[in-house]
Amino acid sequence: MTSPGTGATDLPDYAPIPRSALGPALNEQGYYVGRVERNLYYVTDGVYQSAFLTTRDGVVVFDAPPSIGHNIRRAVDEIAAANGVTNQVTHLVYSHHHADHGGAASLFEGDVVWVGHEETRRLLLRDGDPARPVPEVTFADRYTLEVGGERVELAWHGPNHSPDNIYIHFPDHDTLMFIDVVNAGWVPIYNLNLSEDVPGYMAAPAIAQDYPWRHFICGHLGRLATREDVSVHQQYIADVEASAKEALAAVNPVPYYMAAGENFWAGVKAHLDAVTERAAAPITAKYTGVLAAADIEIFTWTTTFAIMQSLRLDSGPSGPVHP
Ligand SMILES: [Zn+2]
Repeated sequence: MTSPGTGATDLPDYAPIPRSALGPALNEQGYYVGRVERNLYYVTDGVYQSAFLTTRDGVVVFDAPPSIGHNIRRAVDEIAAANGVTNQVTHLVYSHHHADHGGAASLFEGDVVWVGHEETRRLLLRDGDPARPVPEVTFADRYTLEVGGERVELAWHGPNHSPDNIYIHFPDHDTLMFIDVVNAGWVPIYNLNLSEDVPGYMAAPAIAQDYPWRHFICGHLGRLATREDVSVHQQYIADVEASAKEALAAVNPVPYYMAAGENFWAGVKAHLDAVTERAAAPITAKYTGVLAAADIEIFTWTTTFAIMQSLRLDSGPSGPVHP
């Protein structure tokens, strides 16, 4: 962590990023567009990902991160021109309502059909952001989107990173798009990638693995993910869970509360900090050099804290019952 007064350019001496965690080089405009399979493509700026499917009747765009912004249009134009197909964007599908993945959606306003989960619609109505038009085609559990002879299967399997995060399966392209849970080759950022439902987040990769696919569009960083990437992520989360359980059982809270006296919250902080520190330290050590940025300790620390709290509050018990 940087200390107060440390300049932005004066970063700690982090471990080198494994080459395998990095994606292809970006072009002069700052994007890379690559074929996933056949007429399915993904676009990245190195940190965020969008995808699109070219069809004989038009182009379907999946997510529009503002950081890629107008480069989504450039990527579509580039590919459509190269393949002699229409560059007319006819549909935009939201993976979930978050602005960092949909905040450039309004760039496609016009004759576009907006598609998303019914909870995405509800949340976008709540948020009232003109940059993210509200989906008009919505669904509760499943929806098959058919455009120009192509087929995309959308499904909601419960809340995880967000309440509305959906699985986007391309059965004819051997591809699954599922955003903000697995970061290909990298650790999740703070609090399990800023997730709202911890048990849902922890269970989601197994649901993703149950689909048939060879390519995985995870929404972040520069490259596509593999089944091995999802497995490594699952192992990381399983290790955090096991370590949190061990630490919860091993650290005796009593001395912390005794020392804190009538400042009960000081006791809570000291106890939970001790549990988190004991649980997170071996994970950081194990995954440094395996997952990029594993040595940015605050990420594993906050993810461990969130899982440890979920073990208490969701799984239970939160503590012994008073006799
Ligand atoms: Zn998100």
